[in-house]
Amino acid sequence: MGNPILRLTAEKVVISELSTRGFKGLLEDMYESMKESHGIGIAAPQIGVSKQVALIELGSINRYGEVIDLPLTTFINPEIEIIDETTQGFWEGCLSVPGMRGYVERPRHIKVRFLNEKGEEQILEAEGFLATVIQHELDHLFGTLYVDRIKDPKLFMFQEEFEKYIQQAAID
Ligand code: ZN
Repeated sequence: MGNPILRLTAEKVVISELSTRGFKGLLEDMYESMKESHGIGIAAPQIGVSKQVALIELGSINRYGEVIDLPLTTFINPEIEIIDETTQGFWEGCLSVPGMRGYVERPRHIKVRFLNEKGEEQILEAEGFLATVIQHELDHLFGTLYVDRIKDPKLFMFQEEFEKYIQQAAID
């Protein structure tokens, strides 16, 4: 957070780029960085590349009683459509804002059109936690960080305190 690249609208990827070594290398670097930091998503600007590419991988995680599974998906030049404006809140974290957590409310039901890594057009409809994860990652391609969307600054805290006072309370 603070690096100007995170505040830009990233450049659209040109189809002819997809088959280049450079582009494949970018996807590999992104995947590696995501895994290293135990994240479930990453966007190219987070590793210093201002291009409209994001990865998300959710392997059957259970959050708030909802089981979600999304195999590794590459979102290129995505466009989001909101299907249901009703908001839902989740505690978000971000590789670009390490050690912090914040409570963010976002629309609960969305549809995304994007290209996959082969350049094929895809449509993905998502609800619940997955809808939040997708909106968080795609925000990165348009210069927005989750901290911009925290309505109540009191609900922005260190991960350590989050685990101690919020997560633990939810389990108890
Ligand atoms: Zn993030």
